[in-house]
This record gives sequence, C-alpha cells and structure tokens, in this order.
Amino acid sequence: MPSRRPPSRRPPLKACRRCGALVALDVKVCPFCGSTEFTDSWEGMVIILDPERSEIAKELGIDKPGAFAIKVGGRVVKR
Ligand SMILES: [Zn+2]
Repeated sequence: MPSRRPPSRRPPLKACRRCGALVALDVKVCPFCGSTEFTDSWEGMVIILDPERSEIAKELGIDKPGAFAIKVGGRVVKR
C-alpha cells in the first residue's frame, strides 16, 4: 500500500468513480453523470467555477461547475 498523507486537511467528500465529481458523503447519486459508485480514494481537488473560461476545466474535460478530483482510485480520471 502506498503511504498516505494525514487526512487532517482533506474535506469530507467522496469522489464519483466515473467522472471524479466530489460530493458530500451523504449524496447517493452523482449530480453530474448519474453514477451511484463513489470512493473515498481520491487525490487532488480542482474547483471549477466557470467551465467556459477555465483552462483547467478544458484540460480535464469538465463542462459543469463543481469540485472534481484529479485522481480516483489512484488513476487520473478520464472523461
Ligand atoms: Zn459522476
């Protein structure tokens, strides 16, 4: 198992396995892609406020505002 950084500054969120959206722990269905599979194993967080103007959003293939993980389950999310 890879070593993990202490979770002290990590927000209480889980990531959608399909699209990487970060949502509150009590969310049952991903508001972005409709998936019901989530994981606590995610890394890197980007917050997209204006996908039209965000270079990061374009690079990550995100077209909706929200918070997204860069990696889910140890892999970069493919969109
Ligand atoms: Zn999703």
